[in-house]
Amino acid sequence: MKNLLATLLLGATILSSCQNKKADLIVYNAKVYTVNDKFDTVSAFAVKDGKILALGSSDQIRKDYPATESVDAQGKAVYPGFIDAHAHFYGYGESLQTADLTGTKSWAEVIQILSTFAKSHPKGWLIGGGWDQNDWNNKEFPDRADLDKLFPNRPVLLTRIDGHAAIANGQALQAAGINKSYKLTGGDIVEKDGRPTGLLVDNAVELVTSKIPPATAAEMEKNLLDAQAKCLAAGLTTIDDCGVDAGLVDFIERLHTSNKLKMRLYLMLSDKPANYDYLFKRGAIKTERLNVRSFKVYADGALGSRGACLLHAYSDRPNQTGFLLSSQKHFQEVAEKIAAHDFQMCTHAIGDSANRTILKIYNQVLGGKNDKRWRIEHAQIIAPEDFDLFGKTNIVPSVQPTHATSDMYWAGDRLGAARLKNAYAYKQLLQQNGWIPLGTDFPVEKINPLLTFFAATFRKDAQDYPKGGFQMENALTKTEALRGMTIWAAKANFEEKEKGSLEKGKLADFVILDQDIMTTEAANVLKTQVLKTYINGEKVYEKK
Ligand SMILES: [Zn+2]
Repeated sequence: MKNLLATLLLGATILSSCQNKKADLIVYNAKVYTVNDKFDTVSAFAVKDGKILALGSSDQIRKDYPATESVDAQGKAVYPGFIDAHAHFYGYGESLQTADLTGTKSWAEVIQILSTFAKSHPKGWLIGGGWDQNDWNNKEFPDRADLDKLFPNRPVLLTRIDGHAAIANGQALQAAGINKSYKLTGGDIVEKDGRPTGLLVDNAVELVTSKIPPATAAEMEKNLLDAQAKCLAAGLTTIDDCGVDAGLVDFIERLHTSNKLKMRLYLMLSDKPANYDYLFKRGAIKTERLNVRSFKVYADGALGSRGACLLHAYSDRPNQTGFLLSSQKHFQEVAEKIAAHDFQMCTHAIGDSANRTILKIYNQVLGGKNDKRWRIEHAQIIAPEDFDLFGKTNIVPSVQPTHATSDMYWAGDRLGAARLKNAYAYKQLLQQNGWIPLGTDFPVEKINPLLTFFAATFRKDAQDYPKGGFQMENALTKTEALRGMTIWAAKANFEEKEKGSLEKGKLADFVILDQDIMTTEAANVLKTQVLKTYINGEKVYEKK
């Protein structure tokens, strides 16, 4: 009896070890950048139940792991799925539903794009954005007459590139109750011969946008799924959405459960009482695809529009320093509240004054070395004596390398040469804690993570400008850039144990590219294509 039991047990062990070796998927004949601590490369790995089962040589993996599906990578490079540590995923989805008027060369071109767009979006408000009359031959602001003729029965609103002006048609003006005698402060309803031309400035824009009906459930779903399709094609498998409301959390959870939404999301809730109430009451949310444990706070505005809060005046506006968006007291109270509930605080800070204010509050509230991973989003301009404040209390600088190459043409005008040296200082920031997460801030920048890699390492634009690169002492190495887009981004989200590298037991999120960005020359990085994207071992994108 004892022997029989032993035989049975032995049989069961052999059976189970055979079952263990069966994989759902193997990828072989690849150059796999594992992005583990040693930055090892292997040529194959096996996946089971959405996780990495084993890594090794192609021969070994093929021999040891009979798999349902085998992918011959044909020698191509494989990386952990890319993580965007700072983006606006839902906002990007919304922007995909509006007419893109950026780069238009005339009002006629605007009308033409809008007419085409209206055919594929035949109902409701017609919304577009991105025009800039400074780019047109006729630099006069447009008039709504053409819009009224073409769209007599639907409201139209087209915002200027900076969002501070818009042109509305008659239907939209009517919806907002704007007529000849309308009075408002902090804005302008432009009139000609006693008739509103449709041009709205500053607060007048808000009068109309506030009348745009909120998205229906079907529209919200479309926003998310359209954004997902584009992001999967770009090789993204996790995205940090920096600043959403609690209502979207429930919606995303449902869409994850129904398996329509596959993108892993790290959501930061906006700095609003209702969002604090929601998350403090509910507690942190963590599933395999959703992680909600942080709040997004805004300290100041942007450098381009001189909304960044500086310690000294703008070099091109001697009387202006920019300003904080809330009182110091507000930031202090919020920090204490978030700390008391043990959540993560992520604060947008661009100017050196905004950064100093937040760094000091963080340092005081955190009190010393810690693992709370409080983040400063952008950390764009830092006074030289303030860099150490990051390392002192392990504050995470969360940066977007494409901002450096987008701003480099005019950032020196705003800041002057001396201050510019301490701006976009990614290497210096990396040295503070030994790691740094990277993102894009899309849709402010493009979604493509390879542009992040290119900007971080080469620090130049696609036209090879400037020749030697912009402030190259702050360039990251290719290894650092890849870590920033994978394992360090995961770490900024407290997720480095489950993703960000291809190691045994971690999630099988990975991409196959047509070129090896670690070895190919600069110009080729920008031409690199994503061939396949996998989340949880499931192919979620394949290049046609
Ligand atoms: Zn942002």
